[in-house]
Amino acid sequence: MNSGSKALFYALSRSSSLKRLASKYGMSSTDSFARRFIAGETIDEAIQAARVLQTRGLLITLDYLGESVRTIEEAAAATREYGRLIDVIVSSGIERNISLKLTQLGVDVDRATCVDNLRRILDPAQRHGFFVRIDMENSPYTQVTLDVFETLWQQEYRNLGVALQSCLYRTEKDVRRMNELGARVRLVKGAYKEPGAVAHQKKKDVDAAFLDLTRLLLDEGTYPAIATHDEALLGAIRGYAEQRGIPNDRFEFQMLYGIRRDLQSSLMRTGHPMRIYVPFGRQWFPYFMRRLGERPANVAFVVRGILRERS
Ligand SMILES: Cc1cc2nc3c(=O)[nH]c(=O)nc-3n(C[C@H](O)[C@H](O)[C@H](O)COP(=O)(O)OP(=O)(O)OC[C@H]3O[C@@H](n4cnc5c(N)ncnc54)[C@H](O)[C@@H]3O)c2cc1C
Repeated sequence: MNSGSKALFYALSRSSSLKRLASKYGMSSTDSFARRFIAGETIDEAIQAARVLQTRGLLITLDYLGESVRTIEEAAAATREYGRLIDVIVSSGIERNISLKLTQLGVDVDRATCVDNLRRILDPAQRHGFFVRIDMENSPYTQVTLDVFETLWQQEYRNLGVALQSCLYRTEKDVRRMNELGARVRLVKGAYKEPGAVAHQKKKDVDAAFLDLTRLLLDEGTYPAIATHDEALLGAIRGYAEQRGIPNDRFEFQMLYGIRRDLQSSLMRTGHPMRIYVPFGRQWFPYFMRRLGERPANVAFVVRGILRERS
């Protein structure tokens, strides 16, 4: 992770011509380049990908891609799509676990509408025994995301958890609050370029904070999800859990679809619950660009894919 490349890829993710080019080639056939990170554009493709992962012994969470909607109608459409996703997951028999973003449900347009939309998802989700995770977006949304989370938590929606980012200075306080509530946290490093006023700028500081916060979650939290592909950190975390006598079933690891599949399988084989975040949908471009920004070496793989498809 490099903060310069995150900024560059963020800027590129706003380019409409790049988006057109990527959209044309990225998912057009079964081996197109974006398919490494995105399970497909339809619910059926996502269910199929989830089944394959489950057959390998992995847990899953499905994410219907979309963010930054600008109108109430778009937010309502995303909410309906999540409702449909819940129905399809129930009838397919795969694990009942979904992830979503508040800017997809209209938090930028009207916060009360966003809360209503989330409730429209949580009601059927709760009835059918789903767990719902709110992803964390960039820092202008941290407080509102946690406020919306707490509003619903206080209304007894307990099938709900949130993601927190180790890059932000404020996160220790947020972890302590979630631990106090007994809420389930997914800890991540943070995928967005953040200013120095609110976030660590050096990778080593983000990593050190990740380890400290994981310890706090393992010691005092409720079934935390430790979401990283960082092998050194994962080794240190496993060592800590072992030393403290924390059993494997008290927490889970999480990784992204298509990233470090070797490590996903090897950790699972050592008896650790391992959940894969499976994104799908037509709005895959910003998610895809964040994955490129985390590892610029991925660009070579994309360029090879485009050249192959054009020839
Ligand atoms: C399940 C899950 C949910 C997430 N949810 C959120 C969220 O809600 N909000 C948020 O801000 N971020 C989220 N993220 C992203 C996260 O913040 C990081 O940007 C991302 O996980 C990369 O950081 P890392 O911990 O893997 O460590 P890094 O130090 O970035 O990477 C460690 C190693 O992992 C591998 N790797 C990492 N990224 C890639 C990649 N893109 N392509 C290929 N290899 C790679 C490489 O081998 C690298 O050396 C999520 C991540 C996961 C795993």
